[in-house]
Amino acid sequence: MGNKTDFLNMNIAELNKHYVSLKERYAEYKNQTMKLDMSRGKPCPEQLELSKSMLDIVTSSDSLKAIDGSDCLNYGGVDGIPEAKELFSQILGVSSNEIIIGGNSSLTLMHDTVSRAMLHGVYGSELPWGKHSTVKFLCPSPGYDRHFAICELSNIEMIAVDMLNDGPDMDAVEKLVSQDDTIKGIWCVPKYSNPDGITYSDQTVDRLANMQTKERDFRVFWDDAYTVHHLTDKPDHLKNILSACKEAGNPDRVFIFTSTSKVTFPGAGVAAMAASVENINYIRKQIAVQTIGPDKINQLRHFRFLKDIDHLRSHMEKHAAIIRPKFEMVLNKLDSELGGKNIATWNKPNGGYFISLNTLDSCAKIVVKMAADAGVTLTPAGATFPYGKDLRDRNIRIAPTFPSLKELEKSIEILCVCIQLASINKILAER
Ligand code: PLP
Repeated sequence: MGNKTDFLNMNIAELNKHYVSLKERYAEYKNQTMKLDMSRGKPCPEQLELSKSMLDIVTSSDSLKAIDGSDCLNYGGVDGIPEAKELFSQILGVSSNEIIIGGNSSLTLMHDTVSRAMLHGVYGSELPWGKHSTVKFLCPSPGYDRHFAICELSNIEMIAVDMLNDGPDMDAVEKLVSQDDTIKGIWCVPKYSNPDGITYSDQTVDRLANMQTKERDFRVFWDDAYTVHHLTDKPDHLKNILSACKEAGNPDRVFIFTSTSKVTFPGAGVAAMAASVENINYIRKQIAVQTIGPDKINQLRHFRFLKDIDHLRSHMEKHAAIIRPKFEMVLNKLDSELGGKNIATWNKPNGGYFISLNTLDSCAKIVVKMAADAGVTLTPAGATFPYGKDLRDRNIRIAPTFPSLKELEKSIEILCVCIQLASINKILAER
């Protein structure tokens, strides 16, 4: 005997009975003409409040000199002030001469790094990437849509690779990069990945560092956006990729990116990239053509506020205290509404900003549309895949941080009703 709550085990009459009562619930929600939004992976106002006092730190009466004596009011310091490099080096586990501090956005650093590679190549390239007739990137999916948008803009062909529980499907990655010399890069969100919330295993990191690539100037784009964004007091461990690459004899393989967007203020934070000294020296020269220097006043403000790694960790615990109940609410609701029904699976992340849910195949688009009709905006189905194409049409990204607990509860209830309705429709159609 199968599980009684399992929709796949129910007969047509049982499914129809559920359908009727779910349809009633759906009609009620629709009548309430709500406007709820679960699409935005952004901090809520209470989280932003945590960093507001930072705005009072750098004033005209303070010393505006960095610790090396440079004047933050003036030009200079193209790769950042020493205190910013020091803190990011602790966050990322690299030396401060392996860091460049950027502007307000790590996405800009990633975009510019890809664009420069296309125009000029990377350290060690024989040709600019853009001079090759085809350039491809591996895109572990589901993944971050803005990475995919950078590829689309630069005419880089994307190859989707499945995400497994410990990172990308490395058998597939190793096979592809060993055979195809047009593959120049891979996008990775290695910790609390967007959207799966997965942290890469040590073995995955080692395999990325060690794998044989047919193309010599292949790069791993390591977007460590959520590196300090834990939800529990037992944070996931991520192996240091730069050290792993050095040990593997491939020291120049990786470009690491991060920012304080979800530590302080998205859009007004500080971003950084890290890589081998050779990569950094090569890139610094190019950046020095683009700018005489970044916004050092914002750097000063940030690093006087965040101080050191211990202080940063306690600041992040305050973020976690605000958003943990939201993640718990979503997970509890998913369990109570969908648990045992065999129509959806979801991850329980230990950090980051998202919960990734998979419906039965061919249901995600219709679920997102039904939710929208009932007033709940979700990230468009397919957005987490290259070219917006989720071949199984099943992945839905839930962003629990921004809405209030009350809004979130209602939104998840509606989402769960839509998932059940779409699943019954699919099961009945296939009987
Ligand atoms: N990388 C990932 C994986 C993200 O999820 C986000 C924002 O959602 C970003 C980068 C954007 O970072 P930034 O604000 O530093 O550009």
